[in-house]
Amino acid sequence: MVTIRLVQGDITEQSADAVVNAANSSLLGGGGVDGAIHRAGGPEILAECRALRASRYGRGLPVGQAVATTAGRLPARWVIHTVGPVFSREEDRSELLASCHRESLRIADEIGARTVAFPAVSTGVYGWPPEDAARIAVETVRAARTSVEEVRFVLFDERAYRAFAERLD
Ligand code: ADP
Repeated sequence: MVTIRLVQGDITEQSADAVVNAANSSLLGGGGVDGAIHRAGGPEILAECRALRASRYGRGLPVGQAVATTAGRLPARWVIHTVGPVFSREEDRSELLASCHRESLRIADEIGARTVAFPAVSTGVYGWPPEDAARIAVETVRAARTSVEEVRFVLFDERAYRAFAERLD
């Protein structure tokens, strides 16, 4: 079974086999976690993302899917980019958010990552309430069949940290 740990902090400072990026479909960078990862990891990551856009993902990475690149100068070996759904009150997109976690772990298995750090995907610009995102993230990781040994949720702010901590009690 996967051990789940919580850390309040910056995902770009995490030593782990892989860190998950809350990317957007373009794979070409953005704000929040995405901006921080590209800034700290350097241009190698963006170069691989561009190559993915030029090959397998000509139309971008679909919501709910994941793909790995180098982690450049980050203290990790890989970045697993996943695209979270934008939160909607009209439509239940929970399955897509669950898919981000499941697919990231599937990619982690493919590359042989045993420790994986996740941010609170979709809870920033994409507007997902952290309490609900925490429920989906924790349930999905607990249910996953994976060889990953440690999932570390790295929460930037107090509210997200508390939301995840309550789920793990
Ligand atoms: P999304 O577009 O999927 O909502 P964001 O990057 O905007 O992604 O935000 C996702 C979560 O990550 C938010 O809770 C945000 O506060 C948090 N966050 C922003 N920067 C960092 C960082 N450097 N490390 C960890 N978490 C971060």
